[in-house]
Amino acid sequence: MNPETDYEVKRRHMVAEQIVGRELTDPRLLAAFESVPRQLFVLDEQRPHAYEDHALPIGFGQTISQPYIAALMTNLLELNGDENVLEVGTGSGYQAAILGRLAREVHTIELVPELAARAEALLKELGFDNVHVHVGDGSLGWLEAAPYAGILAAAVAPQVPQPLLEQLADGGRLVLPIAGRRRQLLEVWSRNEETYSRRVVTSVAFVSLRGEYGWKK
Ligand code: SAH
Repeated sequence: MNPETDYEVKRRHMVAEQIVGRELTDPRLLAAFESVPRQLFVLDEQRPHAYEDHALPIGFGQTISQPYIAALMTNLLELNGDENVLEVGTGSGYQAAILGRLAREVHTIELVPELAARAEALLKELGFDNVHVHVGDGSLGWLEAAPYAGILAAAVAPQVPQPLLEQLADGGRLVLPIAGRRRQLLEVWSRNEETYSRRVVTSVAFVSLRGEYGWKK
C-alpha cells in the first residue's frame, strides 16, 4: 500500500477506536482529527507509531499527547468556530493544529525555542494560517491576544496559574491538568464574570509546566 493511504487508514482507525470508541462523537471534533496528518508532527523514527493509543517522545524530554487525551481536552472547550483560543505548551504543534480546525484564531506558546520553530514551520507548510506560535513562558498566558474563549494547557501545573484565569473571556473555559498529591487531575475552570467554577474530569499524566506559575528550575 502507498504510505499516504496507509496513514489515512490508520488515522480513520484511530478516530473510530480511540475517540468514537470512548464516546466522543461530535462530528466537528471527529472531522478535525481525521484531517490532521499526525505522522508529520512526530519524530521521523516514530512515524510508524503515530496513530497508536499513547503519547510519543518529540525530543527535549517532551511528548505529544495521546490522541484521546487531545480529543477529550478539545471537546471540553466546546468550540463552535468563532473563538479566540490559547494553548500553553505547543510541543509538536499537533494540538494547535486541531484547535486551528475548530476555532477562529489560535495562539500557542512554547518555552523551548527549537520546538516552537519546528511546529511553526510545519503549521505554515500545512497552511494553518490562523495558528500563531509564540516563544515564551505560557504560565503567564499571552496577554497581547487576550481574552480567550478557551485556554488549554498541555503541561501539568502545581496549581491553576492566575494569569490564565484572568485572560479568560466571560463565559470562557480553561482546561488543564493540575498536580494533586498522588495523581494529576484534568480540570475545567469556567468563568462567569468574576466568578470561577471548577470541575474535575479524570486523572491524567502530563509533563511539567515550567516557568513563573509552573515549576521554577
Ligand atoms: N500540545 C503538545 C504537547 C505538548 S507537551 C502537542 O500537541 O504536541 C508540553 C509542552 O509544554 C512541552 O513542549 C514543553 O516544552 C512545554 N512547556 C512547559 N512549560 C511551559 C511554559 N511555561 N510555557 C510554554 N511551554 C511550556
